[in-house]
Amino acid sequence: MENRLVGFGARSISRSGLVPVLETLEVHRANLLRILVYHRIGNPAAEDGLLDPTLVNATTEQFEQQMRFLRENYRLLSIVDLLRAIENREPLPPKSIMVTFDDGYRCFGDIAWPILERYQIPALMFLATGYLSASGQMFWWDRLYQGLHKTRRTRLSLPQIGDYPLETEQQRWAAFIGIKKQIRPIDNPSVVRLLDQIVGELDVVPQAPDCLLTWSDVRSLHARGCFFAAHTRNHPILSRIPAQAGLQEIRDSQQDIIREIGATLPVVAYPSGHASDCSAELTPLLSRDGFKLAMSSIPGINVLPCQDLYRLKRIGLSPRVSMSIFRMVLTSVYRHYCTIQEKIFHKG
Ligand SMILES: [Zn+2]
Repeated sequence: MENRLVGFGARSISRSGLVPVLETLEVHRANLLRILVYHRIGNPAAEDGLLDPTLVNATTEQFEQQMRFLRENYRLLSIVDLLRAIENREPLPPKSIMVTFDDGYRCFGDIAWPILERYQIPALMFLATGYLSASGQMFWWDRLYQGLHKTRRTRLSLPQIGDYPLETEQQRWAAFIGIKKQIRPIDNPSVVRLLDQIVGELDVVPQAPDCLLTWSDVRSLHARGCFFAAHTRNHPILSRIPAQAGLQEIRDSQQDIIREIGATLPVVAYPSGHASDCSAELTPLLSRDGFKLAMSSIPGINVLPCQDLYRLKRIGLSPRVSMSIFRMVLTSVYRHYCTIQEKIFHKG
């Protein structure tokens, strides 16, 4: 949904009053697999600038409304239902949809899970397991946002990232977006070192808001029916590291989950997950290692059975997404928009 062309098309159609007609057509269309991906649920304004607000996909009220709508209008699949259908080559029923979460933020347990439980919606959480092991851990993007938001410095200048003025709120936001883009391709240990330098330069005392799930939370959510799968241990961009190292990251994440809850699933989600972040070399290794499917964050709706199961598309949302746009992106029109957009930009 972050893509402007897709966003523009979605808004135009949602305003045209066509959505209920499109939804009626979906009633007969089998084998379409919609997968929603969320990271955080809540209100960024209430967080006091401690965490990257771009990872909030819906406010609590929006999420509640979206889940209620899905319960009343869609066929909610669990990951076990999906794996079984793929294994047995069974067709997926019309209006199939799955709900997934990435990263392991604490708001999943505090806010999302009670809503999911209320509407009996199965959910799958992909955990970056290295971050759950000690309290006060934060992802690099949250540390960066917090540093830039809290600093009293009016300029940030480092040879690795360049020079950013920080006098106004707009300049701080521009610095956040600019630095985030620069940092994305860097390998994980270097990012941690660079963030230490940036936060030191910004002269901000880090505040760790206990924003991630603990293993104890994971065990209790698992006991209540939540599914967990690997999202690597350290959240590296897998296309930037050797395929064997990427596989090891995924295996480590799986081992961590098995150690804590005694089970996991042959499923993985690519960190970041844009088309350029999903390593093609990793696919045969994943397949040989017993993984049945991998999820990306490439926007779109999947068509089974011919879809590449190691690059499943997912639908990401933001709090700017109204209910009518939400309903529209679940229809085949959104799938066509995404396919056209992929072709235009050669992202396939
Ligand atoms: Zn992630």
